[in-house]
Amino acid sequence: MRVLIIEDEARLGATLQDLLELEGYTADIRRDGESGLDEALTGIYDLILLDVMLPKLDGFTVLRRLREAKHAVPVLMLTARGDVADRVEGLDRGADYYLTKPFDPKELLACVRALTRRQPELRNLDSLEFGGVTLDKNRFTLSCGDRSARLSRKEFDLMEQLLLNRNLVLTKEALLVKIWGYESEAEDNNLEVYISFLRKKLAHLRARVKIRTIRMVGYCLEEEKEESPASS
Ligand code: CA
Repeated sequence: MRVLIIEDEARLGATLQDLLELEGYTADIRRDGESGLDEALTGIYDLILLDVMLPKLDGFTVLRRLREAKHAVPVLMLTARGDVADRVEGLDRGADYYLTKPFDPKELLACVRALTRRQPELRNLDSLEFGGVTLDKNRFTLSCGDRSARLSRKEFDLMEQLLLNRNLVLTKEALLVKIWGYESEAEDNNLEVYISFLRKKLAHLRARVKIRTIRMVGYCLEEEKEESPASS
């Protein structure tokens, strides 16, 4: 689990980082709204802790831009002195939860656990389905109707990420980190090769689901609405 802390108060940021790392999370810090937003948009985070009063871009603007870019990452806002207007505004703009400073570390960790729990639950399901295509997590197969294809480990991991983030743009950077790991030297080429393998398998399955390339950014799994002429 990787958490991004966007907080300009150095001491609070460091305390949050220590607290999260003691609990086994990986935590990165950005000290202003602008670099925080850039980092959040990489899509590699499972949770974002977001302060409201920040240099360069305030927390509400960061949150709005993140949601406008269709990032569904859970956001926990840190607001000062329980300002009700702040809380309402944060929740209205798509924050998942807020905590009032100063907060109890136990309460913070409980929130972090609650907000990062949603995704693992989804991952534990035996299969993922979208647009008539099913990914079977026990058999490592992708199927559509009565056709099915076996996937390699990397193809499976990639398809799982695409299915979990259906209709959302996944950046190449996020996919490389999630599938090959942070320290890996895998490059865009590796990713393109596996995307092409998956496209061939989807074509073989005659699936309506397509992996669309978003130029210079990444990929998006979408369902084709119109019936395309049969080809075989
Ligand atoms: Ca602040």
